[in-house]
Amino acid sequence: MFNPQKATGEWQTLDARHHLHSFTDPKLIETEGSRIIVRAEGSTVWDNDGREILDGMAGLWCVNIGYGRRELSDAAVAQMALLPYYNNHFQSASPPMIELAARLAGLTPEAINHFAFANSGSEANDAIARLARQFWQLQGRGTKRTIISRTMAYHGSTVMGSALGGMPHMHVMDGGVSNDVVHIAHPHWYLFGEGASRDEFGLKAARALEEKILELGADNVCAFIGEPVQGAGGVIDPPATYWPEIQRICKQYDILLIADEVICGFGRTGSWFGSQTFEIQPDFMPMAKGLSSGYLPVAAVGIHDRVYNVIAGGGHLAHGYTYSGHPVACAVALANIDIIENEGLVTRVRDDIGPYFMAALDKLVVSSPIVGERRGIGMMAALQLVKNKTTRELPTLADNAAIFCRDYCYHEGLIVRAVGQSIVLSPPLIFTHAEVDKTVDILGRALEATA
Ligand code: PLP
Repeated sequence: MFNPQKATGEWQTLDARHHLHSFTDPKLIETEGSRIIVRAEGSTVWDNDGREILDGMAGLWCVNIGYGRRELSDAAVAQMALLPYYNNHFQSASPPMIELAARLAGLTPEAINHFAFANSGSEANDAIARLARQFWQLQGRGTKRTIISRTMAYHGSTVMGSALGGMPHMHVMDGGVSNDVVHIAHPHWYLFGEGASRDEFGLKAARALEEKILELGADNVCAFIGEPVQGAGGVIDPPATYWPEIQRICKQYDILLIADEVICGFGRTGSWFGSQTFEIQPDFMPMAKGLSSGYLPVAAVGIHDRVYNVIAGGGHLAHGYTYSGHPVACAVALANIDIIENEGLVTRVRDDIGPYFMAALDKLVVSSPIVGERRGIGMMAALQLVKNKTTRELPTLADNAAIFCRDYCYHEGLIVRAVGQSIVLSPPLIFTHAEVDKTVDILGRALEATA
């Protein structure tokens, strides 16, 4: 039987010997050892030595309702006892998957009424690439294959997910960008605005999509994919002019619009979905993470009626995963949605903790000589580290400023992330005012030590 009680050194040795970590240099595991996290409650995790660490990242942007919610473990136990598994292939369905699809239809933007299930955001995006291309093929327009994405986008780690993403270091593994995906620049005004106002830059950045469509020919373009706010790329919240212009361009050239809600969904931006915050009307909406607050792997793809109607006329759908719509995961997702609803977490983010969090971080922009910009909305934020506030010159990666700052925070009891030369935060939506204060206190000291 599994025995969770071992000394940290023993876990680290076993881990180094047998486990290939994600997004980690294996050498670090061999030399420094892994960080063994053993339990969690609310917004706090504890390591194997009993050290308490405030989780400013909600795991991986996902534990929206916080840790330790019995409602979710109870839902899992009950469903596991009743029907631990069944699939949604070959005409089958189980009540939790049906109920979850119906609940999501009530929360997502108008005309998103059908949902395909998957187990991760990456799989959801893979499914979308297949469904979107099929949408055009069924209409005799199979040349519409290319999907346009953005630099610094993150859409997953599968072959298609990493191609859709705009992270060069991820493309290297596949020997370049595969699968008919191309990228335009991401809309980061502070670094690339070149003297334009935020709104002017938003329009210019969106028009890069139009230029790319004209270059490729609209008959060859399937879809545009974008996160309402780019998360893993450094919390790039676009200017207000950006999404309306993207919407116009997609409509004008008959391009499907995919709003990747894997991070932005389930309250993080102060609406149920980022698409509502930015008034986007997507054809596809992949969602994962906050759908179950990470308690079990589950993802969904929201599909607009105009797309569903074409796909529904296409006969047998040759797509699905063994665990699509897993009944236990769906039951947990339903309990998670109940909590978000009953505790008013979406409006809490919009009206209370979100503005408090942003205002607290803004103080660091004023007080720290190395913070050039605070980005973000709701409960996702980034602090841009700079060498010089006037010229906006960035530290080099070799300066290691963001990594130093991140590691300082960890040792002081706070988890944040370093993305390029930004410090990124995405706490649980239940974060208290006192936890925001503690976060800013630790960050302030970390920035002072970094400067
Ligand atoms: N899309 C976005 C916007 C994400 O942030 C992520 C993961 O961070 C994914 C897709 C991939 O999701 P997963 O890691 O569940 O495959």
